[in-house]
Amino acid sequence: MKKDIVIIGAGPAGIFTALELIRKGSKKSIALVEKGAAIEHRRCPKSVTHKCVNCKPYCHITTGFSGAGAFSDGKLSLSCEVGGDLPDLVGADLVQDTIAYADSIYLEFGADTHVEGVTDGDEIRAIRKRAIAAGLKLVDCPIRHMGTEKAQDIYLGIEKYLADHGVELLFGMECVNIILQDSVCKGVTLTDGKKDLEIYADETVIAAGRRGADWLEKVCAEHNIAHQSGTVDVGVRVEVRNEVMETVNRALYESKLIGYPKPFKNKVRTFCQNPGGFVSQENYDNDLAVVNGHSYKEKKSDNTNLAILCSHNFNEPFNQPIAFAQKVGELTNMLGAGHILVQRYGDILDGKRTWAKELARSNVRPTLPDAVAGDITSAMPYRSMLNIINFIQAVDKVVPGFAAPETLLYSPELKFYSNRIKMDTHLNTNVQGLHCLGDSSGWTRGLMMASVMGVLMGRYLL
Ligand SMILES: Cc1cc2nc3c(=O)[nH]c(=O)nc-3n(C[C@H](O)[C@H](O)[C@H](O)COP(=O)(O)OP(=O)(O)OC[C@H]3O[C@@H](n4cnc5c(N)ncnc54)[C@H](O)[C@@H]3O)c2cc1C
Repeated sequence: MKKDIVIIGAGPAGIFTALELIRKGSKKSIALVEKGAAIEHRRCPKSVTHKCVNCKPYCHITTGFSGAGAFSDGKLSLSCEVGGDLPDLVGADLVQDTIAYADSIYLEFGADTHVEGVTDGDEIRAIRKRAIAAGLKLVDCPIRHMGTEKAQDIYLGIEKYLADHGVELLFGMECVNIILQDSVCKGVTLTDGKKDLEIYADETVIAAGRRGADWLEKVCAEHNIAHQSGTVDVGVRVEVRNEVMETVNRALYESKLIGYPKPFKNKVRTFCQNPGGFVSQENYDNDLAVVNGHSYKEKKSDNTNLAILCSHNFNEPFNQPIAFAQKVGELTNMLGAGHILVQRYGDILDGKRTWAKELARSNVRPTLPDAVAGDITSAMPYRSMLNIINFIQAVDKVVPGFAAPETLLYSPELKFYSNRIKMDTHLNTNVQGLHCLGDSSGWTRGLMMASVMGVLMGRYLL
């Protein structure tokens, strides 16, 4: 097959590349290759089985049209300070302007017009004052909340738009490698598990998401694609009663707090806060079970969950940050017999495991029923654990009750940002004809930032 442009991965980064090309009137032929299914065929069986059955060959939560975005909480962060380091590559002003543009596209396709976290009222000033006293930075970030159900409708609309405008959508096709001739990228090799297919293209865009990070790492090593070791975040998913969080939930919807607690002074931050939300499990291809969280627009729980993440950057001789985080995850899974572990904060301070019967005595009831009560400290690196404990104590000054003994900590909460692909400001790698986008490029870590990178790619390809 011959195309002008081939895009690997139909997550927000890949989708917005194709979308921007079409919206700007490009007549180039485009193939969008996705190893998962079309959005209308994506089904997580957990709604029926009530537990993760570890779908093979891939997890429907993270794979298929719209990538990890379809079943995500659909929170679009409208600040360039949130969602990755793309501003360091192309400039903060460009990213902020492109956020406004990409946001207008989400609105066209039906996103809620309401934006959370924009008020500058007394409540926010009081929260910031407490954050300053606790040594934490409160990041301003307006958020458009699509909600899990609505996000699927919006991406379905985009999928139809792309198909109607001539983009060839190839589902169930996995990219195995890129084709290099005389150090120039000439396209990709694909497989559907039975037969292989080669697509030759003038420009190849890889937007394989977090799930594609391991694969892209191998492609980089094989073809000398310039990159540097990325960051990994090791942390926990915290769950408390809504009453504890009600002030920040009301004033900000999501409180983005950053701290550098002693003694290590590593960056520790809150991430992905879900008022009235649900803790969820995600399974990676290598059977790694990790914790996540989401919230529905209509269905609400009595709890709020959020991640607390500690960033780890390694120096020579170590250059396998993803493998490091995976080992932490595997060890935690081992202790939980393959399940997510949950422990009460008070038990961590008391140096004891949590028992199932003790969970039942608390105000807060776990919204992930198949999580196993146990001891996360047995698998968590000392540095991460201490960072988390000290950070929770600081957050308690902003949100009284956050460090209550009954507060639930789920593990492993891991964020793999993949190696950072070295690119110029027009998103060219050192291999001619090859571009890497979104979470798999190491430059983004959120729906909006991945969408923005796609928009910019579309413009540069024009
Ligand atoms: C449960 C969950 C909740 C989240 N909630 C939010 C949120 O509320 N707000 C937010 O900003 N972010 C959220 N995120 C993160 C967000 O979804 C991602 O940052 C975003 O989707 C990244 O976009 P992407 O296009 O780079 O990659 P992805 O969305 O991961 O898409 C990559 C696509 O590439 C495909 N692919 C991978 N390898 C290959 C291959 N070799 N061949 C063919 N196809 C391949 C995958 O199947 C996938 O569909 C959430 C993530 C999860 C998992």
